[in-house]
Amino acid sequence: MNKQKMPIHQGGCHCGSVRYQATGKPVIVAHCHCRDCQRLSGAGHSTGAMFAVENFRLEGPVSEYALDADNGNRVTKAFCPTCGSQILGRNSGPTGYVTVSLGTLDDSSALLPQVAIFARNRKPWDIMDEKIANFDGQPGWKPGGG
Ligand SMILES: [Zn+2]
Ligand SMILES: [Zn+2]
Repeated sequence: MNKQKMPIHQGGCHCGSVRYQATGKPVIVAHCHCRDCQRLSGAGHSTGAMFAVENFRLEGPVSEYALDADNGNRVTKAFCPTCGSQILGRNSGPTGYVTVSLGTLDDSSALLPQVAIFARNRKPWDIMDEKIANFDGQPGWKPGGG
């Protein structure tokens, strides 16, 4: 595909000191109901769009917080040190991708979530679209593998 025809997604944190740009279609857009996302977001789930790192550019200072996920993966969250906006997460398995917090995009209205993961941990008050695919935990899909 011609790179100039690819969609460009721009976004940033609340205070404006962190900006980013992601090029092309996300690998996947997903809701995550895991305990880590609930605790970190303060909400019932997080929603993220996954992009290959080579299609992603970050500007501005970020602080990082690393945690061990239930499945043994190391997850690193990057957030704005000034306003606290969660910008993205990186995972030790698979590497090479960033998952951008969907709400930090300037315009996320065209990026519709396809799946909800860790749905076993969904709270009764977190009402979701029942039409999208639900997975109890982390599904075995591989980004880029189709
Ligand atoms: Zn900020
Ligand atoms: Zn999660």
